[in-house]
Amino acid sequence: EIAGEAENGRRGFATSDGSPILQTRGLKRSFKQGEAVIEVLRGVDLDIQPGEIVALLGPSGSGKSTLLQAFGLLEGGFEGSIRIAGKEAAKLPVGGRTEVRRDSLGFVYQFHHLLPDFSAIENVVLPQMIHGATRADADARAAELLTALGLAQRLTHRPNQLSGGEQQRVAVARALANRPALVLADEPTGNLDEATADRVFAEFLNLVRGEGSAALVATHNERLAERMDRVVRLHEGKLE
Ligand code: ADP
Ligand code: MG
Repeated sequence: EIAGEAENGRRGFATSDGSPILQTRGLKRSFKQGEAVIEVLRGVDLDIQPGEIVALLGPSGSGKSTLLQAFGLLEGGFEGSIRIAGKEAAKLPVGGRTEVRRDSLGFVYQFHHLLPDFSAIENVVLPQMIHGATRADADARAAELLTALGLAQRLTHRPNQLSGGEQQRVAVARALANRPALVLADEPTGNLDEATADRVFAEFLNLVRGEGSAALVATHNERLAERMDRVVRLHEGKLE
């Protein structure tokens, strides 16, 4: 259901029926806090088209991470529909959700969550092997991505031998390794100083655009949001 090459020869992810890569309707999530129930998401509607890069803005505590968690398909407790790459994903059994995650999604977090005992390139190779790639293909793809991110001289370094910016770049390469149709990024440069964040963010956007993936990027940084195709804002549990 996901097409390969776009007309310009660049990789693209057009859905066969022209439907959005992500479509959610009436998404709700509340949490019990002691006696109180707080409604964090109160009916979120969102469409993201193939290749579209969308900024998710909202102050701290507005529910950005909760929304990205819903789309990550690991957590229960959400109401509403979530279609990813044409599949009603939220209602699939665990195995089906795992498949959608592996086939269609990539994740970048504020903290890199790299495997500490593995080198930069191994961290990018592993998810591809889990996905069924050969070692040779996975190595080539990992080296290509890490080189595009300026890490050609860092392939065999472990995470603790890398700077914060370099660690986040490895996390970006890992997220894109399996050519996800949609990248979910939660404050992907939120842990970096401003100058490094700017640089890593620009590289991240370039790479996602070049790959043709769509992305939903949570940030509270208006300046970073301006560089994306579109901005949506969480306000009182809904998007505006
Ligand atoms: P943001 O990412 O925009 O800062 P979050 O999605 O992390 O916001 O949190 C939104 C609200 O939901 C906050 O009030 C937070 O305390 C609450 N929340 C998030 N996760 C949980 C949880 N597992 N249990 C209880 N409350 C939670
Ligand atoms: Mg958050």
